[in-house]
Amino acid sequence: MSKKVLVLGEVREGSLRNVTFEAIAAAKTVSGGGEVVGVLLTDSVGGNGEEMLKYGADRVVTVEHPHLKQYTSDGFGQAFMAVSEQEKPEAIVFGHTALGKDLSPKIASKMQAGLISDVTAIEGEGDDAVFVRPIYSGKAFEKVKVKDGVLFFTIRPNNIQPLEKDDSRSGDVSSVSVEITNLRTIIKEVVRKSTEGVDLSEAKVVVAGGRGVKSADGFAPLKELADVLGGAVGASRGACDADYCDYSLQIGQTGKVVTPDLYIAAGISGAIQHLAGMSNSKVIVAINKDPEANIFKVADYGIVGDLFEVIPMLTEEFKKLKA
Ligand code: FAD
Repeated sequence: MSKKVLVLGEVREGSLRNVTFEAIAAAKTVSGGGEVVGVLLTDSVGGNGEEMLKYGADRVVTVEHPHLKQYTSDGFGQAFMAVSEQEKPEAIVFGHTALGKDLSPKIASKMQAGLISDVTAIEGEGDDAVFVRPIYSGKAFEKVKVKDGVLFFTIRPNNIQPLEKDDSRSGDVSSVSVEITNLRTIIKEVVRKSTEGVDLSEAKVVVAGGRGVKSADGFAPLKELADVLGGAVGASRGACDADYCDYSLQIGQTGKVVTPDLYIAAGISGAIQHLAGMSNSKVIVAINKDPEANIFKVADYGIVGDLFEVIPMLTEEFKKLKA
């Protein structure tokens, strides 16, 4: 059966996040040739509706409202439910992001739908689609199939390949007027931490440091390597707890989940809670003085050595390749 699929677009600082394009590709896979409808909830849509069409959406529905400038689960919940009641989708896809993780259970319970969260792969297509998701902190994967009801799932960023952008694609971008009332949270101001460089959760290369970096200054060679590779710096909780870096860099069960093409772990022992946030990375390189360190069990390439010798050597070699 062909399905109408709603895809929630995520806008950050005026632009769509990459996970939106990945969600459109996932929607196409499950639609069985049905319609993929992008949904944008924002105070100002700009050109983002057209952008969703270029990445494969057939049509886009927008809700523009001043209360949608910042995310609140009440505001976004009311706006999404209004679109959903109008469109009556057979399937819904969100990114498994901070926003998606917060909003999807709320919408699923309102719709009395099941929710498959944190999908990392889809096997098969249309009604035969099987959803793969990690369980037990990434130690195992389960495969889930939905028999009936609305198919609702969230996808982990960086796991599903977006479709090629097609500038010639066009379609209808229409707006729905929604009254947003009874907000229990009003966000008056957002004070951002000053972060530079590439966004950690969407980075293709992550250079992460653990307690082995020994100090805040110890992160400098990791930052240099990340810059040469166009990547982002991450950290273990050990490094954050020791005050070597900010908690916004923490990767793992209680930190960010990342799936870069290349993950370089330096001075990280490989505790299960850390592995939960990075073991799905495509290629893992571990650098550790201890040949018995657990991190080597998940690494594709292991370097037994002192990170303060190995990292600068890697940086110099990558610089030569780029020259
Ligand atoms: P350590 O375990 O101390 O390892 C440091 C490593 O550096 C060692 O293997 C050592 O051989 C190596 N080393 C030392 N010097 C050098 C050098 N010069 N060159 C190369 N290698 C060197 N942790 C997370 O990371 N993320 C989480 O989200 C997370 N959530 C948690 C949630 C809970 C409920 C709990 C209980 C724990 C959580 N932890 C998490 C903590 C986790 O259990 C570990 O304590 C932590 O990951 C250890 O950090 P580390 O590997 O940097 O430090």
